[in-house]
Amino acid sequence: MKSYTVAIVGRPNVGKSTFFNRLLENRKAIVDDVSGVTRDRQYGIADWNGKVFNLIDTGGFVSGSSDVFETEIRKQVRIAIDEANAVIFMVDVATGITDLDESVADLLRRSTKPVYVVVNKVDNGTRELEATEFYSLGFEHNFFISSISGSGTGELLDAITADIEPVDVEEAMRESEVPKFAIIGQPNVGKSSLLNALIGEERTIVSDIAGTTRDTIHTRYNLFQKEFILIDTAGIRKKSKEKDDLEFYSIIRAIRAMDEADVCLLLLDADKGITAQDVTIFSLAARKGKGIVVLVNKWDLVEKETNTARDYEKNLKQKLAPFSDVPVLFISVHEKTRIFKAIELGLEVFENKKRKIPTSQLNDVMLKAVQAYHAPVVRGNTVKIKYVTQLPTHVPSFAFFTNYPDDIKQPYRNYLENQLRTQFNFKGVPVRIFFRKK
Ligand code: GDP
Ligand code: GDP
Repeated sequence: MKSYTVAIVGRPNVGKSTFFNRLLENRKAIVDDVSGVTRDRQYGIADWNGKVFNLIDTGGFVSGSSDVFETEIRKQVRIAIDEANAVIFMVDVATGITDLDESVADLLRRSTKPVYVVVNKVDNGTRELEATEFYSLGFEHNFFISSISGSGTGELLDAITADIEPVDVEEAMRESEVPKFAIIGQPNVGKSSLLNALIGEERTIVSDIAGTTRDTIHTRYNLFQKEFILIDTAGIRKKSKEKDDLEFYSIIRAIRAMDEADVCLLLLDADKGITAQDVTIFSLAARKGKGIVVLVNKWDLVEKETNTARDYEKNLKQKLAPFSDVPVLFISVHEKTRIFKAIELGLEVFENKKRKIPTSQLNDVMLKAVQAYHAPVVRGNTVKIKYVTQLPTHVPSFAFFTNYPDDIKQPYRNYLENQLRTQFNFKGVPVRIFFRKK
């Protein structure tokens, strides 16, 4: 699928977060806790009439003087302009145009990407008149909305998604013939080193084909008679010295790469251990239904005793919970340890993602699991599961037919998922479970 990302920028308290949450409604955002003056960033997947895009709330600021705000906001605006496909510039009708708004507008005017000026808190007719003040900022696209009531948001979303292709259901169901892998992770974990190591060893690169967006490069490989495509997010490497900015860049790029991939090879730095940003990237990939292999790189730097790898993996999986049925491999790109094993695991996960269980076998196994441990009685109702079938989707999805679909709670859902995982191999693949009325 083509990747499309919209970033929301603006000064604190204009209502970015309120707007963001309204758009995502019941699909919860993934919150990335960032240190320093920036408030947590939020990442979400928005769906407007079948048009899907990534939405990023660049965050607010916890404290600081207006000088600090200004520097921080300008940095975020630059990152948004560089890495997103479109920018929502949110302002507040209650305060009118402030100096900080002017400063952000100056930066955005130089951008060639679409900018949507969104005047928020336009809760009534009087405020609508006041909102026209913002036309003086000189942008082409202006929208008046109330994030609290939702008024005006439909028109805005129609405009934002005008150029996005709706999800083609048939295309989404068609499996990639050649698996597409994205190497993702934070800055300095060794992504380019791994890519180079693979290219260096592999002499039979078939071709360089342009990616589906101009920002990714798809390179086709042929290794042990297996073909695969590696997706690289090309572009200038930002030389920002600020750790926080680099992390933000890397997350937006990871999103772009994973949107086009079947399986994500998530690299971590063994020496640093797993961080909040790693978990953010992992959760996004899982939410998007991507296959995942976790590669703990720079294993050469770790002093090893008998149980080091085992303990490391255990700790890692605790941080990744609830989705911890993923392959974890300890590699060293420098010492060329297990880097081809990484590709093999990627291919295995790709096979797991395509796995279709015949209905009779599925029912044999899963109805036995239901017999062994029944769903708890709810409000005096005996919950019966009568039948299960795998849906023809590209993320393994299972529909359980039952008399009380709304009465089955998370623990039982987890039980069924665990049974599916134990009985059939879905390692590295998110699995979806639905309950339907029968
Ligand atoms: P952020 O710092 O830009 O993310 O702003 P928040 O989303 O935290 O909102 C700041 C304040 O503005 C909160 O008190 C919100 O309830 C309020 N707010 C957000 N949207 C609206 C709106 O459409 N109308 C009104 N009247 N208040 C709003
Ligand atoms: P990227 O930003 O994720 O693409 O990371 P790079 O590939 O540029 O690597 C960042 C740094 O980590 C470089 O100095 C690499 O030489 C180093 N590095 C990469 N892989 C390994 C490894 O397996 N072991 C060690 N010790 N260093 C590594």
